[in-house]
Amino acid sequence: MSLEKVLVHIDADQDAALARLIDLLKIESISTDPAYAGECDKAADWLVDDLKSIGFDASKRPTPGHPMVMAHGDQTDGTHVLFYGHYDVQPVDPLELWNAAPFDAKIEDTPNGPVIRGRGSSDDKGQLMTFVEACRAWKTVTGSLPTKISIFFEGEEESSSPSLVPYMNENKDELQADVALICDTGMVEPNTPSIVTMLRGMVKAEFTITGPSKDLHSGMYGGPSINPLRVMSQALGALHDETGRVTLEGFYDGVPELPANVAEQWNNLDFDGDKFLNEVGLSKPAGEDGRSVLEMLWSRPTAEINGMWGGYTGEGFKTVLPSEANAKVSFRLVGQQDPDQVEAAFKKHIESHLPEDCTVTYHSTSGDSASNMAIDHPAFEKARNALSNEWANEGVFVGCGGSIPIAGHFQDIVGLETMLIGFAQDDDSIHSPNEKYDLRSFHKGIRSWARILDALSQTE
Ligand SMILES: [Zn+2]
Repeated sequence: MSLEKVLVHIDADQDAALARLIDLLKIESISTDPAYAGECDKAADWLVDDLKSIGFDASKRPTPGHPMVMAHGDQTDGTHVLFYGHYDVQPVDPLELWNAAPFDAKIEDTPNGPVIRGRGSSDDKGQLMTFVEACRAWKTVTGSLPTKISIFFEGEEESSSPSLVPYMNENKDELQADVALICDTGMVEPNTPSIVTMLRGMVKAEFTITGPSKDLHSGMYGGPSINPLRVMSQALGALHDETGRVTLEGFYDGVPELPANVAEQWNNLDFDGDKFLNEVGLSKPAGEDGRSVLEMLWSRPTAEINGMWGGYTGEGFKTVLPSEANAKVSFRLVGQQDPDQVEAAFKKHIESHLPEDCTVTYHSTSGDSASNMAIDHPAFEKARNALSNEWANEGVFVGCGGSIPIAGHFQDIVGLETMLIGFAQDDDSIHSPNEKYDLRSFHKGIRSWARILDALSQTE
């Protein structure tokens, strides 16, 4: 009953909601540039005031960097959700590539429908306001929030979040909830709402293989002298076998097969692997044989050589036999793969390719495990159903090839399962000139959260 009225109110309140978003977008909260610290503070204040106007107990919390915003709703019943978003934005340069002023957001008609254009419209002010507006609509129509809600906004997401982990550790108790919600991701297709449930982890290694004690002339020493670049290319060339599998010992330990229901959701997507590759000048998937492009991107681990150098790379030619070869290598991890085990297996692999006169030095290595959400937690299916009711296509559980550290922090520090639900589209140009957010995403995003909150409020 109430939900229908809330949705009607959201439709009627669109212009006002948009005006509020435009107001927030005017604040130049670029977190990485100290010159804009005052603006970041202003954005935090704006959000505190706005949340207070909806009845939240909201406050700005100082950190050594930009402030956090914490807020708690007045409803004490129902599933307790903790919502996360970030109010800081990326710098706007190169300014000359913008068609309009980045901090004077305007509505614009495009062939794909109306958009709001401006820095932060999609990442992440427009997205976080979808949730705030859904709360406002519930409060306005029914006099209270539908379920127990806490809100956590960060102002340093675009500058590596230096204060985030210390803050979360210090405020663990206040961040407790039943489930965390994050609105900072996109939709897999324009009409298919998506819940990210798996994020790949990563192991990185930078290292040098050393052979002769100094650079040699290949005319005088070539033949008897081992060339570390040859050793390096053999070692890295052996990282994959001819079927595209990574050859490290135990590498696939903890790599799960997709649950059948998720595999089916992915098979039903319109995603065209060929088109995806064609757009970047490729035609043949280079991952493991027998895996779809989506699996390769979301649910399978990888090994990549990110950089490899040594010897003479300048203009002209120099017949050097170099003393050193260098490389940066990274692995994307999935499932329960253990970063320490992958790092150890990689070092063993390199070692096994080292001839007698070569040594290896590691300059830096680091590892983070993958995040996997417990999709059997009842909140996931409730949210997916709520999204399916709003959009043309059914909601899907998707993966994300990259990493979103906050999701892992909620799991590791607070012990919370996290649902990443976002309404951004691939062509939103986040972090680039002319960033935009579809008005349709903004509108249906608000309606989606109204439905999700309603679904989560029903505890049985
Ligand atoms: Zn973001």
